[in-house]
Amino acid sequence: MSITKIKSLLREKNIRVSEKKCAVLQAIIESNSPVNVNELYQRVSYDLPIDLATVYRTVNALKSLKLIREIINSSGIQYYEFINSNNPVHPHFNCRICNHLFCLDGR
Ligand SMILES: [Zn+2]
Repeated sequence: MSITKIKSLLREKNIRVSEKKCAVLQAIIESNSPVNVNELYQRVSYDLPIDLATVYRTVNALKSLKLIREIINSSGIQYYEFINSNNPVHPHFNCRICNHLFCLDGR
């Protein structure tokens, strides 16, 4: 998704649009499986000066705006994925070997 589209998604929520919010949301959207805060931090900090606390705060803000949903894996770690009309609530599979969290089709 383009950064212009991401900015307009944030603007629709009537919040202050910052480069960091855009970058965190873009990293979640572009991931093909749910991501945790540490993974987001690694991806976003590659391009932007950002600290882990800001990633946490941004993720919580995006969650309360209902732009992302939280999934807790079997180890109790929170993962996040983008919410849109093409992505309704669905089950997840947590691989015990690689610890990766996969989205499963709900149908
Ligand atoms: Zn999912």
